[in-house]
Amino acid sequence: MQGNANTPVLKDLVLVGGGHSHIAVLRRFGMRPEPGVRLTLIGRDLQTPYSGMLPGYVAGHYAFDDCHIDLGPLARFAGARLIHAEAEGLDLAEGHVHCAGRPPVAFDLLSLDVGSRPDVGSVPGAAEHAIPVKPIDRWLDQWARVKAEAVAAGGDYRIAVVGAGAGGVELVLAVRAALHRELAAAGCDPARLQLDLVSGTDTVLPAYNTRARRKFARLLDQRGIRVHTGAPVTAVRPGELALADGRVLATDAPLWVTRATALPWIAESGLATDEEGFAAVNEHLQSTSHPNVFASGDIAAMVGRPRPKSGVYAVRQGPPLAANLRRALLNRPLKRYLPQQRALAIIGTGDGHAVAVRGRWAIEGDWLWSLKRWIDERFMAKYRDLPQMAEGEETDVREEIAGGPEALKEISTIAMRCGGCGAKVGSSVLSRALARLTPVVRDDILVGLDDPDDAAVVEVPAGKVMVETVDFFRAMVDDPYVFGQIAANHALGDIFAMNADPQSALALATVPYGREDKVEEQIYQMMAGALSVFEDSNTALVGGHTGEGAELAFGFAVNGLVERERILRKGGMQPGDVLILTKPLGTGTLFAADMRHRAKGRWIAGALAAMTTSNRRGAEILFEHGATACTDVTGFGLLGHLVEMTKPSKVDAEVHLDCLPVLDGALETIRAGVFSSLQPENVRLRRAVRDPEAAGADPRYPLLFDPQTAGGLLATVPAERVDDCVAALRAAGYPEAGAVGRIHPFSGDEAPIDVVPEGGESRPGAPALRSDIWCWSRGVTP
Ligand SMILES: Cc1cc2nc3c(=O)[nH]c(=O)nc-3n(C[C@H](O)[C@H](O)[C@H](O)COP(=O)(O)OP(=O)(O)OC[C@H]3O[C@@H](n4cnc5c(N)ncnc54)[C@H](O)[C@@H]3O)c2cc1C
Repeated sequence: MQGNANTPVLKDLVLVGGGHSHIAVLRRFGMRPEPGVRLTLIGRDLQTPYSGMLPGYVAGHYAFDDCHIDLGPLARFAGARLIHAEAEGLDLAEGHVHCAGRPPVAFDLLSLDVGSRPDVGSVPGAAEHAIPVKPIDRWLDQWARVKAEAVAAGGDYRIAVVGAGAGGVELVLAVRAALHRELAAAGCDPARLQLDLVSGTDTVLPAYNTRARRKFARLLDQRGIRVHTGAPVTAVRPGELALADGRVLATDAPLWVTRATALPWIAESGLATDEEGFAAVNEHLQSTSHPNVFASGDIAAMVGRPRPKSGVYAVRQGPPLAANLRRALLNRPLKRYLPQQRALAIIGTGDGHAVAVRGRWAIEGDWLWSLKRWIDERFMAKYRDLPQMAEGEETDVREEIAGGPEALKEISTIAMRCGGCGAKVGSSVLSRALARLTPVVRDDILVGLDDPDDAAVVEVPAGKVMVETVDFFRAMVDDPYVFGQIAANHALGDIFAMNADPQSALALATVPYGREDKVEEQIYQMMAGALSVFEDSNTALVGGHTGEGAELAFGFAVNGLVERERILRKGGMQPGDVLILTKPLGTGTLFAADMRHRAKGRWIAGALAAMTTSNRRGAEILFEHGATACTDVTGFGLLGHLVEMTKPSKVDAEVHLDCLPVLDGALETIRAGVFSSLQPENVRLRRAVRDPEAAGADPRYPLLFDPQTAGGLLATVPAERVDDCVAALRAAGYPEAGAVGRIHPFSGDEAPIDVVPEGGESRPGAPALRSDIWCWSRGVTP
């Protein structure tokens, strides 16, 4: 899946932050992958805002997706593993990036493009009461709140923008444009709004020429924005700003756009920095202290060539950064990069007008806003409409390979090892990976990993029976840690569906051929993900088998314990019962779309969140509410699993399509005709549907056949318990859980399932549906 699948991984290039330079690196490596190199992107956000369009978004000229680059499809295009996590530190000696809530990520070559933050540390009260403009996603949430408050107050609202560089000036104008429009639409007088721009220096736009400053002084004045220059803020208190000249400025929303500061962990890692903590880089964008670390964008400080912290420079650094990362991987001399002395800045006023500034001149006009828009939209299109690579085109057959001739020798050694396909991974690799993990310890594991033997020995306590299951599948995500979590959840789903408590697990893994250290790391990450799930359910890992193969695959044989009389089977459904589904559907279509670069990053993130949610608590709640039958929804799709339940139960069932919980994006990918390769096989079961023609008119119908990975539980509970049951499920972390159908007496019909499309009729004679546990998505009572 990653990089060049035919070449073993020799080097790990890890990009931290999906900033303006790294998007160019991803695109370029997607166009020309480097054999032997595995690319990984660690990103706090899945959508990176394009700074040039951000003020336009605030002003209301663009929609969210117009000005955010979706890192999901871009990483997929680049063949990069996407790790959705926040980096919190570096271990430069070990070559590790530390991330929140997961094991460190190993690198051979590292590149940092994590941007900067406004300085909230040096002014008392700013960290608590100000609204910093970065991280942008958090700021955008706050902005939505500020807008709502201002409109609710009928315009009697005071906003102060602190910081009068280009960002602050453009922001205050954009805020004004947006609120004037919204207030007018709400029938309020926009003139009641108070807007202040506070500058610590004697002028606005201190880094720009006098003409530009004069123009903006006039434009701000004409738009009724009060400018306070030479007035550094000395304290931020609830509802007010204290200024150095003794004045106090009342404000409801202090927006903070002051000088850029560096993330503290950059300097703490031991990387050479400038006096402000930004990574010091040479003219190759390479760290002056650590040759295997590069940095670009705001976080980089080029020694001897200081430049403003501006997206323009971050964008320009992308291509030379990509070239030098490639050269570093190939052990070739790096190329010099000399940043331009002066950049053209086009600063918008939020209302269809802009000022262009370069060197000593500044001009303005409405046409400049149109020009800026054209330039920015063209830039975005480059990252949205990614080139279609012809089959095989992505494989760059070259003499060169990451690491040079030595690496070529290494590859052929690995290839020879691959002659014995299916061979076990070396025991030392495996034991090194396992030694870094701490599996659950249980008294009833008599022989386990801590005292290995030919096989594990587990005790079945008196009065309990053992439940056993096995699951194994290819990786659908590139992040091995998350894949490990999903594989463990998927396997445990069968145990929970039987209302058993998991006891032990045996791992089955296939890892791609590679250098020992790469294989070890892959196994470690995957196992660490799985163990994080096993810890939650007190499941002991007692052994397993790991082999090498063409692609990553993982699974578990799991056993569980349950008292005989508490077992939940598929065959216990009773007429009158209500059918409950605990998680939304759509993983099959979404991951099929992801493979084709057609799924938005946030859709996949939503699917992953559902897939990594354990069914443990769900099963307990269903049992507590008198569940009569239960199964977990996986490869056969909802309908396939429902038929598996109705048959042994000897009942008919009714499913309401408008009640099905659906993952964000799944209806879009279905509408685009993107389905899992398993879908056609599942669709054969439509013979169980009484009137497939009528049901097929509903856009949700294909979801019945969508294969799920680590899907939710499908269960029946008596009708009188269903309200409490659904409420308990939602409170326990299954927010989309709901009633999706009900059970009818056995008709003997060959097609026992009624699939009711939106607006369709229930089976004649069935009692009316009631309460909001139905139709979670519509929020209406049928
Ligand atoms: C209101 C405003 C308007 C602006 N307008 C303009 C403009 O019109 N033109 C212009 O040139 N500049 C503008 N700027 C400046 C511009 O935003 C920055 O200079 C630019 O974004 C820097 O790009 P970058 O690639 O360094 O970082 P960013 O664009 O900030 O990207 C950093 C990326 O790293 C990720 N990240 C951050 N921390 C971590 C972490 N710990 N772990 C993993 N990932 C992480 C983030 O999610 C983000 O995707 C503006 C700034 C502001 C505040």
